[in-house]
Amino acid sequence: MAYSNTQLFINGKWRPGQSGKTIAVLNPATEEQIGTVAHADRADLDEALEAAAKGFKAWRAVAPFDRCRIMRKAAAIMRERNEEIAPLLTMEQGKTLAEAKIEAMLSADIIEWFAEEAKRAYGRVIPARGPGVYQIAVKEPVGPVAAFTPWNFPINQVVRKLSAGLAAGCSIIVKAPEETPAAPAQLIKAFADAGVPDGVINLVYGVPSEISEYLIPHPVIRKISFTGSTVVGKQLSALAGLHMKRATMELGGHAPAIVFKDADVSSAAKILAAAKYRNAGQVCISPTRMLVQDDVFREFVDKFVEGAKSMKVGNGLDPDSKMGSLANPRRVTAIEGMVQDAVGKGAKLETGGHRVGNKGYFFEPTVVSDVPKDARAMNEEPFGPLALISRFSTFDEVAEEANRLPFGLASYAFTNSTKTATAIGAAIEAGMVSINSFGLALPEVPFGGVKDSGYGSEGGTEAMEGYFNTKFITQTGV
Ligand code: NAD
Repeated sequence: MAYSNTQLFINGKWRPGQSGKTIAVLNPATEEQIGTVAHADRADLDEALEAAAKGFKAWRAVAPFDRCRIMRKAAAIMRERNEEIAPLLTMEQGKTLAEAKIEAMLSADIIEWFAEEAKRAYGRVIPARGPGVYQIAVKEPVGPVAAFTPWNFPINQVVRKLSAGLAAGCSIIVKAPEETPAAPAQLIKAFADAGVPDGVINLVYGVPSEISEYLIPHPVIRKISFTGSTVVGKQLSALAGLHMKRATMELGGHAPAIVFKDADVSSAAKILAAAKYRNAGQVCISPTRMLVQDDVFREFVDKFVEGAKSMKVGNGLDPDSKMGSLANPRRVTAIEGMVQDAVGKGAKLETGGHRVGNKGYFFEPTVVSDVPKDARAMNEEPFGPLALISRFSTFDEVAEEANRLPFGLASYAFTNSTKTATAIGAAIEAGMVSINSFGLALPEVPFGGVKDSGYGSEGGTEAMEGYFNTKFITQTGV
């Protein structure tokens, strides 16, 4: 499929913005313009809101079994179109074609899992205190949703919100990323082609702050879901709070990855290096602070560096590339600055550290070791191919370091001791702890953070909860 311009999808129609304005889309591997995306202004948003209100009435009345059937069809379409959709994702985002195929393919699993959950929106019957009284708690869809999603996983970040919302019976307005618009548009198209009624799903692009400031307070919108940086998440959740809107916030992370001396060091280094450079490190659950026990520190660094060096960097469309470009020039500047700052403060540059070439946003898989705690990268989310490896000696010391930052999204630990595994699982302040594997982000398991990493879940039955109100009904027999 050739890269084409992306339009808005409002009330079942693909169309340009009413103002006719568009935003350029660049290929981050070549810096060339490959297309445009339509820009929505107030008039378009008003239409989307009207459509979402109408779509909600229609969709909540569709029986969960029928919602499930339509959603499963969308999943089948995503599988059928994988070969066409994946290159669009690579061209606009920079990730390798293999990663793009996995992302598009996994979206089908996510849709199916949530589709089946539609059938299991159980309430409960509460025993009454007297005869002839029935007390029930029922789950009802919360209403039209506004979803704001970022550019790192342009399909995945939309499909989680969309699938949970639709399964619950909600309608939705998706504000998808302007930098990577075509892949999420294909996802929406799959749902439309599967038979989701007009108005249930609407897709807009434009100026993110203008859209969120208009949609969040709007009375039609009953819930918001945002994935992105902590700083923006705090602004949007404050606005949601002001207008009493339900919110799910999936924000930044700074995952500690702890390697105890009794771990299989070689396997830990292999798993963590693969996880670190996946999607060029632009992943909120990316392992960032590798904390390695003294005795195995050098062995781990050497093995991790080996993993970093084996990542061939290149255009994602080239089948030999193992790591694509970064998605935008902001990431290159940020990673360059963080490496310089860390090295300036005394860290050792083990490998990488530089931009690759001068065309395209490529950056070397980078490892720095013995990074001082006041280095910027040890405190801000790098969101790029930068691994930080530090040493520790005791359990208490590493638990304190793991919990030092305000973030609490993913965390990892490697050990062969059940006792240590249990203790570290309990000690870490994070929404997710993965021990001896990279085992996060399956559709059926909770996915979310604590502290500044946000609240609510993007996976498992917990994600469905975010799209339901609980209504209590008590009925006394007549
Ligand atoms: P950013 O913080 O401006 O944007 C992050 C995302 O939020 C983008 O998709 C953007 O369109 C959106 N956004 C920004 N302001 C918004 C607003 N007022 N209303 C609605 N949406 C808004 O910066 P960025 O350069 O795109 O990303 C930088 C940082 O964001 C990264 O370093 C990373 O920490 C974080 N991020 C996290 C995730 C994640 O998966 N949690 C994804 C992308 C970015």
